[in-house]
Amino acid sequence: MSLVSRDPILLTPGPLTTSLATKTAMLRDWGSWDASFNAITADVRRMLLDIANAKETHVCVPMQGSGTFSIEAAVNTLLPRDGHMLVLINGAYGKRMAKLVQMMGRQVSVFETPEDVPTTAADVDRLLTADTSITHVGLIHCETSTGILNPLHDIAEVVARHKRSLIIDAMSSFGALPVNAKEVPFDALIAASGKCIEGPPGMGFVLARRTVLEKMEGNCTSLSLDLFDQWTYMEKTTQWRFTPPTHIVAAFHQALLQFVAEGGQTARLARYQKNYETLMAGMAELGLKQFLDPKIQAPIIVTVHAPASDNYEFKRFYNQVRDKGYVLYPGKLTQAETFRVGCIGAIGADEMRQAVHAMADALREMGISTKATKAPATKAAAHAL
Ligand SMILES: *Cc1c(COP(=O)(O)O)cnc(C)c1O
Repeated sequence: MSLVSRDPILLTPGPLTTSLATKTAMLRDWGSWDASFNAITADVRRMLLDIANAKETHVCVPMQGSGTFSIEAAVNTLLPRDGHMLVLINGAYGKRMAKLVQMMGRQVSVFETPEDVPTTAADVDRLLTADTSITHVGLIHCETSTGILNPLHDIAEVVARHKRSLIIDAMSSFGALPVNAKEVPFDALIAASGKCIEGPPGMGFVLARRTVLEKMEGNCTSLSLDLFDQWTYMEKTTQWRFTPPTHIVAAFHQALLQFVAEGGQTARLARYQKNYETLMAGMAELGLKQFLDPKIQAPIIVTVHAPASDNYEFKRFYNQVRDKGYVLYPGKLTQAETFRVGCIGAIGADEMRQAVHAMADALREMGISTKATKAPATKAAAHAL
């Protein structure tokens, strides 16, 4: 049983730890017809476009549900019935995108690299040259399965040069890693409330190129996920088409205000970078190694090799660390025993340092030796002299 009565710190890629101000913004009930609630929705949409410098070219369409609902809405609405989408895969979210395209009955091709190998612009250039029937490219910016970063800028340039359409799953990167619509051409970028903007989970949003979305009336085969209808209804009435997740919208708005107050994307990235560096320094002390080459690692979530000990079992490690107040995330790799640690959320370097201590203590309690357990022992011996 845990003796920790406060909420644990979530070192997970969403839901994540939110600030007290964001949590308390959920303590009000809003009517969906209320002008003050609809003003909040409008402000959220405007602020999201601002983050990507996209207000002249794109519109922001929010959508109820988890992030996947918004990806499905974007693809089903923007990929024509006779379109052909190429999905670039190096993890579970790439596979999920390919699966949802296939399930809606549209043509899909996949290009898959191992989980520790980014897709390159050269790959995409070659694939688009070889198959001129491909109309759309789906890219996962930061593939959260491992934390690998795919080269968005270079790939976007190649897709634009081939005059194809780019759909970006920027779920775990938006707000932390820079995306400027004036420099990175895309037709849709999708993210959600409960990731790097640090809101609660429950809604996603699509930044869609206005001239493209305008033409897609009647293309979507799903009623609730029709992004065109959601957009036109919202433009006409200021309201959400179906019941809005009012508490989530209000809290997400509050999180966006804090995002701006903190200094926007650059400040958010700097904090996450510090979280990541603090975590990695701690992992090195414990003799634990990261799965990815640091050159292709985003400071969002880190995959760490489990200690090579017969005493190690993730479930037990997870429970011990959680009882100390920190929630880890399981690994998603088949080829190696790993666990994941998120660097995002309303947390800083202090929380990361404390999390490292919790992990060190948990490993000791499991009878797993770490370099850190040896270091104090030597110090103590030297002191005794
Ligand atoms: C979180 C996430 C999603 C959405 O997952 P949901 O469980 O639907 O919220 C999609 N893609 C990536 C890369 C993600 O990190």
